[in-house]
Amino acid sequence: MARFYSIRFRLTTSFLVIILAVMVIISFFLYSILERYYIDNFTDNLERSGFLAADFVAGQLTGQVNSVRLSVLAENMSRQSQARVLFTDQQALVIGDSIRVGGLLNQVLEHNDITAALGGNVSSSISYSERIEQTVMHMAVPVKEENNQITGVVFLSASLEEVYRTLNDIRRFLFFATVLAMGVVGGGSVALARRFTGPIEELTFAARRMAEGKLDQHLEVRSGDEIGRLAEQFNLMAKRLDYYTTNLKKFAADVAHEVRTPLTTMSLLTKALKEHEMEPDQQREFIDDLDNELERLVALVNDLLELSRLEKNQVELEEINLNNFINDLITDNQYRFAAAGLDLNSDLEGHALIIKAAPLQLRQVLSNLLDNALNYTDPGGKVTVSLTREDAEAVVKVEDSGCGIPEEDLTYIFERFFRVDKARSREGGGTGLGLAIVSEIIAKHNGRVWVESEEGSGSRFYFALPLAEE
Ligand code: ADP
Repeated sequence: MARFYSIRFRLTTSFLVIILAVMVIISFFLYSILERYYIDNFTDNLERSGFLAADFVAGQLTGQVNSVRLSVLAENMSRQSQARVLFTDQQALVIGDSIRVGGLLNQVLEHNDITAALGGNVSSSISYSERIEQTVMHMAVPVKEENNQITGVVFLSASLEEVYRTLNDIRRFLFFATVLAMGVVGGGSVALARRFTGPIEELTFAARRMAEGKLDQHLEVRSGDEIGRLAEQFNLMAKRLDYYTTNLKKFAADVAHEVRTPLTTMSLLTKALKEHEMEPDQQREFIDDLDNELERLVALVNDLLELSRLEKNQVELEEINLNNFINDLITDNQYRFAAAGLDLNSDLEGHALIIKAAPLQLRQVLSNLLDNALNYTDPGGKVTVSLTREDAEAVVKVEDSGCGIPEEDLTYIFERFFRVDKARSREGGGTGLGLAIVSEIIAKHNGRVWVESEEGSGSRFYFALPLAEE
């Protein structure tokens, strides 16, 4: 049943119906015109023969008529005009017939055309002749004397067989032309439909496989038309979907892995506390360790929540004076850095740079970068936050004199859970998500983030945000 609803079937039948209708209409008109042309032509010829004969026999139909002579004359004329020729007198009595044996000589002919001709009119008609079993045209022409008196009639009968044969040939030709046109159009539309529906069927098949969970689908793009573009978009969608699911799976595995480490430690600590007698000091140490692990879990969950919030929410942007914003943040962090033996200062552009951002998210970006600078710089080191204007962007740099990042790791630094030195990161309470959050927030603000670093001699983290229109 489905194939009757298919585009291929509908396209082909529509084309066939259209071409059939067009051909029938054309054939009908063409045939009518040709039929009229042939019949008119035939009538003209017969009429001309009639007039010639009438001229010829004028004066011979009155008085003492010589039927034999007239019949010989009719016979000669019949040969020339391919028609039966009869002459009648004023009473419609046949006085000459081209059929000399078994003809109508000396019979009165009652025929409408003859009656009309005796009344002075040329008259013709078409009828079926039983005698010769053919369609015949009759033509009656009055024979007039010089004084215009009607003395008789020339009556011609000619078979239309030849004309109808030609018309039949034309009809057959038109029929075959229609069949041929339908064949060509039918074949053409099947091929055309296949060209269109082939790729759609491939697309349906690929989509079905995707629905079954096989996301790595790829279609061959064979054309630049609408269907080609659809295939292109489909490939893009499939690739992205595949990428997201792979990433999601990896992310879920990474999360489980990250959660497992503190949970295992906590489980061991709890067991030890339960099963072993301990001095109060040792017990306190174990509980502190438990607390640290718990804190790490909470930090991890908070960062994960922050990431998922970032993916979901569209935030309200506010105009922010970056100079003031950075100064406030530095003041807030001053004590923390001093406690860690680090020198925190700023180097800001002379006049205020205004950007549009979500204040809480911008604060998170700077806090994460400052936390890292704090975690990965040894006491006695220096951390500087600078702000400059470059074209239509405000560029913020957080520079530290810390341990730096090996070159081969620089490309992965913004990925979720990536850590250069896992032990050190954990020690500092790092979740491995800080820079991923930074990169996500900056991307949401149509900005860019990048890093420059040399192992052993510090890092420079940059982010650039478009300046608000002045
Ligand atoms: P973490 O919570 O582990 O700090 P981040 O995503 O913030 O996670 O950073 C990823 C990794 O990049 C860190 O584990 C660390 O190895 C490295 N890193 C980040 N900032 C710095 C820095 N300022 N100096 C040296 N290494 C850094």
